[in-house]
Amino acid sequence: MPELPEVETIRRGIEPRVAGRRILSVRVYDGRLRWPVPLTLPSLLADARIVAVERRSKYLLFRAITTAGPGTLLLHLGMTGSLRVFTNAPARRRHDHVEFSLDDGTLVRYHDPRRFGSMLWLPGPAPSHPLLDGLGPEPFDAAFDAGYLRTRTRGRRTAIKVVLMDNRVVVGVGNIYAAESLFRAAVRPATPAGRVSRARLAALVDAVRQVLAEAIEKGGSTLRDFVDAEGAAGHFQLDYRVYGREGEPCRVCGTPIRNRRLGQRSSCYCPACQPR
Ligand SMILES: [Zn+2]
Repeated sequence: MPELPEVETIRRGIEPRVAGRRILSVRVYDGRLRWPVPLTLPSLLADARIVAVERRSKYLLFRAITTAGPGTLLLHLGMTGSLRVFTNAPARRRHDHVEFSLDDGTLVRYHDPRRFGSMLWLPGPAPSHPLLDGLGPEPFDAAFDAGYLRTRTRGRRTAIKVVLMDNRVVVGVGNIYAAESLFRAAVRPATPAGRVSRARLAALVDAVRQVLAEAIEKGGSTLRDFVDAEGAAGHFQLDYRVYGREGEPCRVCGTPIRNRRLGQRSSCYCPACQPR
């Protein structure tokens, strides 16, 4: 499943190709995604201008001005969704479900074999939807800091890793990124959240940003089917320090990496480098 770094990579690849462009037409070949693509989408978006491509958590938000006013096309890639931008588009492939033709001849195609993705239209100047409401801050927002994390962890016995992966606390910290961040912050994944000191929480905030920034920089991916905006394979991996390394020696101290299941997810850590 594409994680935040992949979605951000896609956003950065796509925005310069589509922002400022006018949509000539939208064709929906198969609208049976996780929720049906609105039947009115082609008429809503005909003649609309795309003003920006933003990201919130793992949602891409295409901000547009339509003939009926401003709105946002919300896109989630689900498990296997991908977007491709073409100047000279080849023939449509199987599982190319939605196609946007732009005024400069650019074609944007949404491809999704398993169809768990979502494409919804949110009318109005500010995107609002139950999928977006209630999400915690973005990891790179100033609002996500040690003081904030303290208010969300105080008194809680839930494992810090489970809290970190909760989208209502902070978005975009998937299993891999949580494990790697906890290693860098020297915090054991199973530690009750309320027992992590403020200094360690501050280290954790820094580590989360560092790990995500590195993954974005590498155009990171956790999915084989991920394809970036140029249509190139985008499967670059972080050099994991603990994730997926159970039994292997810690890259820092040589101690065998341990794995403990937390909230049904594997949670690798170094017992020496992450003492508590
Ligand atoms: Zn170690």
